[in-house]
Amino acid sequence: MRHPITRLVVASHNEGKVREIRELLKPFGVTTFSARELDLPEPEETGLTFAANAELKAQAAADTSGMIALADDSGLAVDALNGEPGIYSARWAELPDGSGRDFDYAMARVYEDMKNAGTVDTARFICALSLAFPNADVHTYEGKVEGRIVWPPRGDKGFGYDPIFQAIGDSQTFAEIEPQAKHDKSHRADAFAKFIKIWFPNKTSGNTSRCD
Ligand code: IMP
Repeated sequence: MRHPITRLVVASHNEGKVREIRELLKPFGVTTFSARELDLPEPEETGLTFAANAELKAQAAADTSGMIALADDSGLAVDALNGEPGIYSARWAELPDGSGRDFDYAMARVYEDMKNAGTVDTARFICALSLAFPNADVHTYEGKVEGRIVWPPRGDKGFGYDPIFQAIGDSQTFAEIEPQAKHDKSHRADAFAKFIKIWFPNKTSGNTSRCD
């Protein structure tokens, strides 16, 4: 029998991700805590896939907190860059002088490298969501959204690479559309819908990624 989920820790120190995951969880009556609120350490992401990194983050948070943990590992895969920055999407934002992360810098790197590599501008956001239990049971769900890289960056909503990513069929970037519109189509919402279908089967009629 599936363990009922009434509360969980969102195993991320990324405020943008925590906000989106909390909004996606809102209709399901789950009490959430963030890794920062519980002062959980940030594990080193040593995995070579999104799934491996999501699993190690979820398991580390479940072990330390003794609670069910949900972790997200995600990133931007650019075709002209053979899928980079991919699992290194956060790392690409680290400034050379070691002073921290800057996504204006990361977006410019992506655009310059893509331009130098060729003519295709296609890309996708990918997300692996892992649910881990303190007993080491872990379940992983993956999602993606196809789109293209645009330049210059547009919009001030969202986070990370959102200002240069435009989903197929859209004329606005992920940083220009409303948060609800991003929840209707994002890589995170795609993975989330798969997670909800399994763990909240009685609440999955209609669009499960909506958060009204
Ligand atoms: P990580 O999963 O903590 O390794 O970090 C993934 C990085 O990918 C984030 O820091 C963002 O830069 C980027 N990323 C993941 N999801 C999104 C998204 O929904 N919008 C924009 N950038 C994202």
